[in-house]
Amino acid sequence: MVEGADRYDIIIVGSGPGGATAAWRLAPTGKRILLIERGGYLPRERENWDTNEVFGRARYQADENWKSADGATFKPGLHYWVGGNSKLYGAALFRLRETDFHGVRHVDGVSPEWPLKYDVFEPYYSQAEKLYRVHGVRDEDPTEPWASAPYPKRPIRHEPRIAELADGLKREGLHPFHLPIGAWIEEDENGVIAPDSPCLRCDPFDGYPSLTNGKADAQIVCVDPTLKAHPNVTLMTGAYVERLLTDASGRTVSGVETMVAGERRVFSADIVLVACGALSSALLFLRSANDKHPRGLANGSDQVGRNYMRHNNATVLAISRTPNPTQFQKTLGLNDFYHGKALSPANAWEFPLGHIQMVGKSDGAQVELEGMPSLLHWLPQKPFDWIARHSIDFWLTTEDLPRPENRVYYRDGVTHLDVVDTNGESAARLREQLRAICDKVDIHPHLLDRRLYFGKDVPIGGTAHQAGTMRFGEDPLTAVLDLDCRAHELDNLYVVDASFFPSIGAVNPTLTLIANALRVAEIVAKRIG
Ligand SMILES: Cc1cc2nc3c(=O)[nH]c(=O)nc-3n(C[C@H](O)[C@H](O)[C@H](O)COP(=O)(O)OP(=O)(O)OC[C@H]3O[C@@H](n4cnc5c(N)ncnc54)[C@H](O)[C@@H]3O)c2cc1C
Repeated sequence: MVEGADRYDIIIVGSGPGGATAAWRLAPTGKRILLIERGGYLPRERENWDTNEVFGRARYQADENWKSADGATFKPGLHYWVGGNSKLYGAALFRLRETDFHGVRHVDGVSPEWPLKYDVFEPYYSQAEKLYRVHGVRDEDPTEPWASAPYPKRPIRHEPRIAELADGLKREGLHPFHLPIGAWIEEDENGVIAPDSPCLRCDPFDGYPSLTNGKADAQIVCVDPTLKAHPNVTLMTGAYVERLLTDASGRTVSGVETMVAGERRVFSADIVLVACGALSSALLFLRSANDKHPRGLANGSDQVGRNYMRHNNATVLAISRTPNPTQFQKTLGLNDFYHGKALSPANAWEFPLGHIQMVGKSDGAQVELEGMPSLLHWLPQKPFDWIARHSIDFWLTTEDLPRPENRVYYRDGVTHLDVVDTNGESAARLREQLRAICDKVDIHPHLLDRRLYFGKDVPIGGTAHQAGTMRFGEDPLTAVLDLDCRAHELDNLYVVDASFFPSIGAVNPTLTLIANALRVAEIVAKRIG
């Protein structure tokens, strides 16, 4: 260990869902744990719910400039706060489908099989759903994998226009389901919100910080309760981990070099867990190159930063023929096109298309910021608020494939992110399916892109579903992490964010990384006895 360093038993870098969940799970061991976070607490202020501030001015987004392969500069959609990106997430908390663990054939190639299968993750998914207060109902979604426990919370009720949409979809032979959402909401069976419910079914939920702390984000669910109950856990904010240092053998992380208020400090611990988010974790490993690890820490395989996945995501706005006064719109999902036609009869194509869910409702300010109205030629006037009142908003996700050339790295001190999209035809077909459905359920079949949700510069800035940059596997020649998510080349270094994903499926990734953080934390707890 580095001499003179502040010593802990365990250091965790990053307080997003990965790091915070690991801290929550490890705290009862009584070991001295240091949780290091570069950001501070996200301020609770009126602007949390101000569309112009959140989306227009990117008030809570990291102010960084990265470069894409074509040399363009963009701002990554990252959020450096206690709780990480989950402070702004939509909290749709899905299990991967069982087939996702077995390798799936897509139009552009095969998404790789996982070395551990669904049965290994299942108990941790159940724990994760309980911890993150997931509301849902089993057996509505035909693609949902088996589960050993019911959802811990009853589904969040559809408002009338969305209930109508669900009925319309069912009439078309489809299987809409209640979205699994992690929220701190107390409502009775009639949907009446309890007076002390933190979540009030407010429309600024998806993509906004929750002013009322009504979202099950990593700060509210893990960091705050852990600090309150366990004095052995210390949170250090405003602390940027610059490098991980190793001992002379290169086999052990001996120090965590951190910038705190302009001062360089070194902390050390028996075990270090990294959870900076898949992009930032890979960058930390690359920054930590030394004599024993010349290409970056644990990068003998040259895989650190590669195989980046982010989903083919699209947010689209359609116009309902009847007004859509829904406030809390993110309650419905549709997986009838998730698989190829052999498993998804509604999909006539042999390859999977992906997943559809409702996204937060557009308001007038969003519609105006998007600059969409010129496209709406069929309206006599183009009032933003009218459009927003009739808008019905969907989120579409198609699986993308891990490609070694899709990667994050430094060149000349600048962060580069190279992405070549895959499965674009599947994404286009999913959109066509949605358009065809809209025609049948009282929605104008025009779909307009909503780019704001994910950032303004170039689509590559949509980093919300970052994954795959340090995948796990048995072979150190092709994987950075072993099956315990410990670096193959270091004895005391673990990664507990979505870096480890070999493939990403087509549902939101966070519940899977939370489940894995619980799994890895259990392994670490056993190791330290
Ligand atoms: C707008 C939006 C909506 C989303 N909606 C959903 C959704 O509905 N469902 C879903 O499943 N997922 C959603 N996501 C994705 C979800 O937020 C991420 O999957 C999740 O937050 C990743 O957790 P993490 O712990 O791996 O990383 P992060 O949440 O990125 O947390 C990493 C933490 O590490 C800190 N950090 C980074 N580098 C350093 C360093 N060098 N030193 C110290 N600290 C560091 C960061 O500040 C951050 O707090 C959404 C994301 C966004 C942005």
